[in-house]
Amino acid sequence: MAAHRVVVIGSGFGGLFGTQALKRRDDVEVTLIAKTTHHLFQPLLYQVATGILSEGGISPATREILSGQKNARVILGTVTAIDLDAKTVTSDVLGRETVTPFDTLLVAAGAGQSYFGNDHFAEYAPGMKSIDDALELRGRIFGAFEWAELATAPAERDRYLTFVVVGAGPTGVEMAGQIAELAHRTLKRDFRAIDTREARIVLVDAAPQVLPSFGDRLGDAAKNRLTKMGVEVELGTKVVGVDSTGINIEKADGTQSRIEAATKVWAAGVQGSELGAILAEQSDAELDRAGRVKVNPDLTLPGRPDVYVVGDMAALDNLPGVAQVAIQGARYAAKHLKARLDGKPDPEPFSYFDKGSMATISRFSAVASVGKLRVSGFFAWLLWLAIHIVYLIGFKQRITTLLHWMVSFIGRGRSERTVTAQQILARNIIAKMPPEDLPKLPVVDSDHAAADESENEPDVEAEAGRAS
Ligand SMILES: Cc1cc2nc3c(=O)[nH]c(=O)nc-3n(C[C@H](O)[C@H](O)[C@H](O)COP(=O)(O)OP(=O)(O)OC[C@H]3O[C@@H](n4cnc5c(N)ncnc54)[C@H](O)[C@@H]3O)c2cc1C
Repeated sequence: MAAHRVVVIGSGFGGLFGTQALKRRDDVEVTLIAKTTHHLFQPLLYQVATGILSEGGISPATREILSGQKNARVILGTVTAIDLDAKTVTSDVLGRETVTPFDTLLVAAGAGQSYFGNDHFAEYAPGMKSIDDALELRGRIFGAFEWAELATAPAERDRYLTFVVVGAGPTGVEMAGQIAELAHRTLKRDFRAIDTREARIVLVDAAPQVLPSFGDRLGDAAKNRLTKMGVEVELGTKVVGVDSTGINIEKADGTQSRIEAATKVWAAGVQGSELGAILAEQSDAELDRAGRVKVNPDLTLPGRPDVYVVGDMAALDNLPGVAQVAIQGARYAAKHLKARLDGKPDPEPFSYFDKGSMATISRFSAVASVGKLRVSGFFAWLLWLAIHIVYLIGFKQRITTLLHWMVSFIGRGRSERTVTAQQILARNIIAKMPPEDLPKLPVVDSDHAAADESENEPDVEAEAGRAS
């Protein structure tokens, strides 16, 4: 009997754990399609941005992780179309189009940054969702100290030494804390014309509290710790403008002011993957305000029992956009599918087991909320350390991460301070390129001839590639 074809979209927590949960099924063939060649451990992106970890340390190759899983194949490509009636997924990489047929589809394409309708802010305030984002921010943050060293006027120097982080959730708190550590500890002996300890770090959020999802007590503990580290925390403050040299803010009472700052980091708001709209168009599903797909209690797409949507792009019972929701959702979807394939009754609806959440503020200081336990400070930081090592994928990654952490937390250094012009400049330049100028895979006639000779059976994927 032909194997059941499962296509998984995304190599993040949902896509990877969903694929692995189907490992022992000889009757299933999994094709994982993702737009990057790696699995990304997003919770540590801020450490790549601030020079603690290398990008490879948090992004092992998906192909390598799945190399031992014989029923899984990995395809590189950005999914551009999904046809739920024809049961095909179309993906594109550098102009080469591939069409992959499926019997069951698991969509775990995650979420992007939301600028709440002000997408033009992105040019000067990059978000932090990908390795590219983190490396660009690394370039901008370390670059700002370099420009400050070269500045000839005090106002110019102050602008380069001012960093604004927008969003006081875990990512914003972690970024603000790390920039403060860079300025006050790591870089303090490295410059001659400037005193990096004079850097101004401002954390801005429209909400009245830091880390709202952790509750008042831990939110206040985080705020106090940040303030002690010299971070200015501006709550109840909305960002109303961002440009190359600063940021305009508005207080709850309507008063507006401006912060001159060369470096802005956007860590506020998420927007479900654009694939959500494609799925909603062809099913009975609706999207919520953040563009996430409202799924059935068994994580299937309303009206389409052969399609599961999990992780950050799915909306169910107000579940948070965290790694555990994606992992548990993907494992549930795999279990649900296996029951169907075995002709067994459907499992109980998906129920999320909250294992807790944590955020670091600086070295040796974190907040953690696990079950009824609410802790802050050193103990919470140890807990954070242990959990992150356990969840990092790959032995190599764990060892190198531990070494880098020793360098940064026990010592004063940062092992990953390399910055290239491409990191800082490429995103905006690519965004402004006309589509016809974007790079395409070079193709010569003999490529097609070789493929024709080597294939005895017609292959939908190869056919589609040839047509493009
Ligand atoms: C900076 C940051 C810090 C975080 N910190 C924490 C934390 O401390 N704890 C925690 O629990 N959670 C944290 N999260 C949230 C957590 O990382 C997400 O909830 C989790 O990654 C969601 O998993 P996912 O599989 O739904 O999406 P993702 O992990 O985002 O994976 C999406 C995948 O889909 C691929 N993809 C997207 N669009 C396409 C397309 N069109 N075609 C092909 N492939 C596509 C992407 O390349 C990626 O492989 C953090 C997130 C960020 C951004």
